[in-house]
Amino acid sequence: MAGEPQDDCLFCKIVAGQVPSTIVRETETTVAFRDINPQAPTHVLVIPKAHHKDAAALAVAAPEVAADVLREAQAVADQEQLESHRVVFNTGSGAGQTVWHAHAHVLGGRGLEWPPG
Ligand code: C5P
Repeated sequence: MAGEPQDDCLFCKIVAGQVPSTIVRETETTVAFRDINPQAPTHVLVIPKAHHKDAAALAVAAPEVAADVLREAQAVADQEQLESHRVVFNTGSGAGQTVWHAHAHVLGGRGLEWPPG
């Protein structure tokens, strides 16, 4: 069911503390932790605690939590004192999504090219 923890979901396990992560912020509805394979000096993932398979599903099922994720992405950028940054939701395998629990990538600390690859 949408929002319920999934046994086979890595990010649900991070929320539950069953898989270690470096958490930088936490709210009632979200967790932000450092990406294990950083693509920039700052690379933090902001996830909803509830399980939704991608950002599109999250936006439909729980728009208020989607807003929390965006607010927390900005809070991470502020906390990391990023002059500029990028927030990315890879949505679907063709866009590079590999973990099927909605997450925002917050990237910064270096120049970021456009368009992305
Ligand atoms: O957008 P995508 O689904 O590819 O992003 C998943 C991200 O989760 C990757 O950047 C990967 O490095 C990260 N990850 C992590 N900790 C894990 C497994 C994956 O930070 N234990």
